[in-house]
Amino acid sequence: MTTLRYSLGDTGPAVNELRSKFAQLGLLRANDGVEFSDAPFDAPLDRAVRQFQLERGVTADGVVGPLTYRLLEEARWRLGDRLLSYSGSNPLVGDDVMALQRRLAELGFDVGRIDGVFGPVAENALREFQRNVGLPPDGTCGPATFKALARLAPIVTGGRPHWLREGEALRRLGPRLSGKVVVVDPGHGGSDRGATGHGLEEATVAADLAARIEGRLAATGVHAFLTRGRATPDELDEASRARFANDAGANLVISVHVDATRGTQASGVATYYYGIDRHGAFSAVGEQFAGLIQREIVARTDLRDCHTHPKTWDLLRYTRMPAVRVELGYLSNPHDAARLADPAFRDVVAEAIVVAVQRVFLSKDDDATTGALLLRDLA
Ligand SMILES: [Zn+2]
Repeated sequence: MTTLRYSLGDTGPAVNELRSKFAQLGLLRANDGVEFSDAPFDAPLDRAVRQFQLERGVTADGVVGPLTYRLLEEARWRLGDRLLSYSGSNPLVGDDVMALQRRLAELGFDVGRIDGVFGPVAENALREFQRNVGLPPDGTCGPATFKALARLAPIVTGGRPHWLREGEALRRLGPRLSGKVVVVDPGHGGSDRGATGHGLEEATVAADLAARIEGRLAATGVHAFLTRGRATPDELDEASRARFANDAGANLVISVHVDATRGTQASGVATYYYGIDRHGAFSAVGEQFAGLIQREIVARTDLRDCHTHPKTWDLLRYTRMPAVRVELGYLSNPHDAARLADPAFRDVVAEAIVVAVQRVFLSKDDDATTGALLLRDLA
């Protein structure tokens, strides 16, 4: 199977098609050479791709691969273009679904996370809305529902009610770790080894770190599940990992990665949660959880603080619970690689992450200073 993949310098009909797609989205203008149908993938198109990726919350690398193609497909839908309803395991995804979710949320309905995916929560909210305005509650957004949606003025702004609900739902579970469900996802695996450097492979490092986290979580009474074992033969895509977490009924998800770049300069730890500024849609608990993991790791190690950031990568987007991806250091950097090779360092990181898990469930009053909580206090 050949994977679609286009970037600067490529030519051919697919590049022409990309050019017209980006022009339709308003990211390429006439003076960017849109009219030259046989032009190669040039600098203006590269800029347009990167801007689009940035706006959509994915890695802005200028490469149009499967994920960027999918996002381009989503971007062309406007609310009212097609009927929207819940279709089970293969849900409708697109900007029109995102617009519907935002609209319902503004009107005070519980749509769950605003993620552009038409799931069962969105369907319930839609039925509720239809009942409220005297339409048949069929859960299908058609012409009459579009009209009713457009007529009403918003009563709340943005995703605020959902942010509050998400936090409340988690805190209602209580502070004890015992009985909580946490999915730990080691990145890559199978034939996909991820980043490499200084004799280390990301897939192996991530699997070892995940096992250490899982062991510590289990010791506190958490039901901890790994998305893959050390020797899982097949590659798992991010959507399958998200499905695993949804099916497990996880309260939280932690995805473990390490990074690498071509040079040796880049270093440090960063954490990511579901979010996209442009749409005002994000996971508030995800952001909080990412911040906690980031702080605990930075407080306990000498890794550089590369902060927390919103992203829409599939694992973060398709999980129905707060999910965080950790990028723990760079295998291409001698300092980070030396740390990552050290089992004692991996233990410290695993402990930091378990403490962060504990903190998510604590109310502000019960919480201690960063770096002060120890694993043995949690069990
Ligand atoms: Zn990775």
